[in-house]
Amino acid sequence: MASSGRDGDESQKGEAESCVGNGSSSKDGYQQSNEDEGAVELIRRYFAEKLGFSEDKKEVFQEKVKALTEASVDGVIKYIQERNCKNIITMAGAGISTAAGIPDFRSPGCGLYSNLQKYKLPDPQAIFEIGFFRQNPQPFFTLAKELYPGSFKPTLCHYFIRLLNEKGLLLRHYTQNIDTLERVAGLPAEKIVEAHGTFHTSHCLECKHEYTVDWMKERIFSDSVPTCEKCDGVVKPDIVFFGEDLPTRFFVCAEKDFPKCDLLIILGSSLTVQPFASLIDRVPKVCPRLLINRERAGHRDWVMAALQMGRGLDFDSRDNFRDVAWLGSCDEGCQMLADKLGWGDELRKLVVDEHVRISKQQNETSKRQTEYPSEKKRAESEHQ
Ligand SMILES: [Zn+2]
Repeated sequence: MASSGRDGDESQKGEAESCVGNGSSSKDGYQQSNEDEGAVELIRRYFAEKLGFSEDKKEVFQEKVKALTEASVDGVIKYIQERNCKNIITMAGAGISTAAGIPDFRSPGCGLYSNLQKYKLPDPQAIFEIGFFRQNPQPFFTLAKELYPGSFKPTLCHYFIRLLNEKGLLLRHYTQNIDTLERVAGLPAEKIVEAHGTFHTSHCLECKHEYTVDWMKERIFSDSVPTCEKCDGVVKPDIVFFGEDLPTRFFVCAEKDFPKCDLLIILGSSLTVQPFASLIDRVPKVCPRLLINRERAGHRDWVMAALQMGRGLDFDSRDNFRDVAWLGSCDEGCQMLADKLGWGDELRKLVVDEHVRISKQQNETSKRQTEYPSEKKRAESEHQ
């Protein structure tokens, strides 16, 4: 929606050109480059050729053009306002959901695996391996019950992303999370790419019959392994296991979206899981990238940074004009951005109102289940 009227190659080309045109002062700077820089450039090209990192020359030239007047959060805010950003892409990892109480299952010692010891897993990650799941699905469903989406409320960060969309700034939100909190926060489904799948739908591993989130929830909470009503095969939520392909939507959208991106905001991701992490290099060379995370992530190797080659974020080099790291929690970082954009109070109010609404809904559901304990049985018989 935010991209309406800006789709198509023509407008993209126009945007890319205007990016170059706007940095007039730095363009002059490039023309006046001294002999030292010329020598560095020669060495860079030599290595690029020898090591096979040779890139499109036009793109390398564009890399010299400043996207931000200063590589700082204030520089990014100024850029959003002056450039009238409409194609912001947000990329999110587990860090945006930890404040909701959802443990990062990749963090050691998060306690998530403690009650799985009885299953004697070969290693904790086996729980998300498709081969292991086919042999023994029970450990996964035990964990799924504990992690089940619906028992959590979205964080301030989730609502910030919703606001970005409501203000017409968001092109798409790419998430590594399977907790569906973006949907719960009210971000429209067409704006979300769930790179590692979702609990929102499930499929039978054998006949591929689809099941709804409510159907799956019933099974998970009754401590049974969900089996297909058509063929008795095991039914698995559509989250991506190790050894499975990412959803087609991820590849289709990434191909279309990233060349159009005018600002990339990376939230709460350590950028270690591929191919998700490599998305950061698919934005145009002049597109600013803001990382909001507890620690630096996705950083380019310093040798490569010195040679202006390689991939990844580059916060420290002298020529950095587009990569900014803000270290802290995602909620604090997003509130800070909202304050600077003049939406601070609106965001606070949205979070309070939505949390009240969700609490009310959760209370009603649990009350109904206490008053009508037979409801579950009735629901089950309806499925038969
Ligand atoms: Zn089936």
